[in-house]
Amino acid sequence: MPSRKVNLAIQAAVSAALVAGGLIYGTPPGCKDRKVLGEGFSPSRVKELVEAQVAFGPRVPGTSAHQKTKDWISAQIQELGPIAEVQEFTANYGFEVPGGQVDRRPMKAWNIQASLFPEKKIRVLLAAHWDTRFAADKDKKDYRSPGPGALDGASGVAFLLELGRALLAMKTPPELGVDLLFLDAEDQGGSAMSGLTPWCLGSQAWAKRFRDLGMPVRYRYGILFDMVGAKDAQYPREVYSLTYGPATLAKIWAVSRELGYAKYFPNADAMAVTDDHVAINQIAGIAMVDLIDLRPTQVSGETVSGWDFPPYHHTHGDVPDLLDLKTIQALGETVMTVILRDR
Ligand SMILES: [Zn+2]
Repeated sequence: MPSRKVNLAIQAAVSAALVAGGLIYGTPPGCKDRKVLGEGFSPSRVKELVEAQVAFGPRVPGTSAHQKTKDWISAQIQELGPIAEVQEFTANYGFEVPGGQVDRRPMKAWNIQASLFPEKKIRVLLAAHWDTRFAADKDKKDYRSPGPGALDGASGVAFLLELGRALLAMKTPPELGVDLLFLDAEDQGGSAMSGLTPWCLGSQAWAKRFRDLGMPVRYRYGILFDMVGAKDAQYPREVYSLTYGPATLAKIWAVSRELGYAKYFPNADAMAVTDDHVAINQIAGIAMVDLIDLRPTQVSGETVSGWDFPPYHHTHGDVPDLLDLKTIQALGETVMTVILRDR
């Protein structure tokens, strides 16, 4: 996904808001035991769910692996209890053909949604993309064929399914309703100038529909999971997230520190990432933050001055072996605790 720089003054202002948000988010009475809120979350199940998706092959739109995964996600949701709602939309893909031309091909794509605790009026939106990029184009070898997408795609889906299972199994359910949103056609983008496929088509289709329906559901905030659970992963504050969801970031950062997981959520502002949360913020008006694995590139003492995507990003090395149960647990417990404390 492309990244861009943003105005530093805006960044300073949202950082100040983040600190302010952190001060007002305290621990409610009865929530002192760090084990209580996230203990039902199973990191090993996340890993199994990643392996199950990778076993289908790369989930590239137009392939049978993609079709099978769509049905698999729906079946997983239905096993948890809710009905899987499928939103079909047309994604306009642009393929390069010999001679430097771009061949336009509209293809069917599907967003899948599950509503947990549907009776709750105020809700949280948890999202991830489920498609695999058409090519491992950051790899030196075999860069025209797709990679396995264990982290980039499968991991976010697995987190959503396991968070959903664990929340539904709570003796005391969350006060807020929770929606799980599996977005298609996120990762097929080309360069903006080339006329090739844009990024994040599923979230754009979802957000436009949500807006056109008159925003029928009230989401207090949203969290997007992209490339989650790898060993050595870090989730710094991504810039669109800081701009649109500083209060949510403040909650996540405060809880991570309380639970002893600060190393996964560094006190650092990273780059802007064009990801599914952008359309959901800008078109649907839902304050969604992106938890995305980014790695420091320039470190001098305590100061990090550059960030980039992790080394497995868009390569054949994006395999389930990269997953780390401790990282998965840290993220799962942190997010569950944030959701379960919300009133
Ligand atoms: Zn990707």
